Amino acid sequence: MSDQTVKRDPSCIDDFDPGSISVEEALGRIEGHIEPVAGTERVPVRGALNRVLARPVASPFDVPGYANSAMDGYAVRAADLPGADAVNLRVMGTAWAGAPFAGHLAPGQCVRIMTGAKLPEGSDTVVMQEHVERTGERVRVGPGHRPGQNVRHPGEDIGAGTAVLDAGCRLTPSELGLIASLGIAEVTVKRRVRVAFFSTGDELRSIGEPLGEGELYDSNRYTLHGMLARLGVEVLDMGVVRDRREDVEAAFGAAADAADAIITSGGVSVGEADYVTETLQRLGEVNFWKIAMKPGRPLAFGRVAEAWFFGLPGNPVSVMVTFYQFVQPALRRLAGETPVAPKRFRVPAATPLRKRPGRVEFQRGVLVRDEDGRLTVHSTGLQGSHVLSGMSRANCFIVLPLETGDLEAGAEVEVEPFEGIV
Ligand code: AMP
Ligand code: MG
Repeated sequence: MSDQTVKRDPSCIDDFDPGSISVEEALGRIEGHIEPVAGTERVPVRGALNRVLARPVASPFDVPGYANSAMDGYAVRAADLPGADAVNLRVMGTAWAGAPFAGHLAPGQCVRIMTGAKLPEGSDTVVMQEHVERTGERVRVGPGHRPGQNVRHPGEDIGAGTAVLDAGCRLTPSELGLIASLGIAEVTVKRRVRVAFFSTGDELRSIGEPLGEGELYDSNRYTLHGMLARLGVEVLDMGVVRDRREDVEAAFGAAADAADAIITSGGVSVGEADYVTETLQRLGEVNFWKIAMKPGRPLAFGRVAEAWFFGLPGNPVSVMVTFYQFVQPALRRLAGETPVAPKRFRVPAATPLRKRPGRVEFQRGVLVRDEDGRLTVHSTGLQGSHVLSGMSRANCFIVLPLETGDLEAGAEVEVEPFEGIV
């Protein structure tokens, strides 16, 4: 791996670290390594929600399967439509959705037709009910109608044999409906990716245990559990691992045996009790990066036996930011999903934003509408990487580029909403 570092004038006195790589570079390196899992399985349509298609889905027939009416009205023959005057047509019966009209239209005849009903033989045009005058079994149709109007044609939505969904598509409710509309009962999806995760730290206690002095509850395993569950992966929660070389090493081995990917939190810095990077070095391949970003600067990426490894920083907000920016796209790729760009857009900041140049910041923000109905974003306040309540109050990241410094209220900033990124 080349060590392409962030290009920047080193004379600037700021938070710039010359050994750091850019967010894009780190993302590119992770994505450049990871190949999708090979395994597939057949699942019923309902069970396919949030799964990734391994094979395209093609339509076995034309959709719609037959010419039908787009309106409630009268099915007529285009040849009977009047030029300048009006014509009177005789109503022969009714065509319902699900109960077609059995006969064939002769000249001068029409059929009352409902939306979605099959067009009767001989007819090719529908006149809206609002555009006719009906008297008994006769309707009067005026001029100005277009031959073929208000008709949905066979195959107009999807032609028989056409692929409607590509491999790599993650299935949402609309796709389940689309698959069902084709009469398809089962689809082939990628097997679920298995992810093992554990927290490291002597100070961490699990829920239910009393807290001693200088100790705190492990929250990272809960945010990780939630983020992973939403991604639809199989999770293996391995608990808290103490800051001891043997314990960390044993956990690595067990995780690599059980999973396609391993995620850890804490212990990736260069402190005395930080065994994660060192263990990865000994047992596998390591790419340790300082990324020019905040929060989440140290990140270890590599491989242990057959498993991909992500060593996230310990601070709770850093865990979430690095998960969403790096681990989630990596796991999506591993799961066989076609990559999608993060959904970001620009809005004015409602409050000033403090920022030092030299790193990309993922600040926590709240998108709201101002009095004029325009979307604006304000900071959640304290931006420390331990402030998990800010992450909970936030509904978006405010993504501030490397070179940006402090910003005034009103400045345009890029936001990445939480909703829809998972
Ligand atoms: P570390 O990267 O191990 O030095 O951890 C950085 C900071 O994050 C320390 O203040 C830790 O106490 C805190 N931390 C580490 N792991 C967790 C966790 N699982 N839950 C909550 N806080 C944590
Ligand atoms: Mg630690």
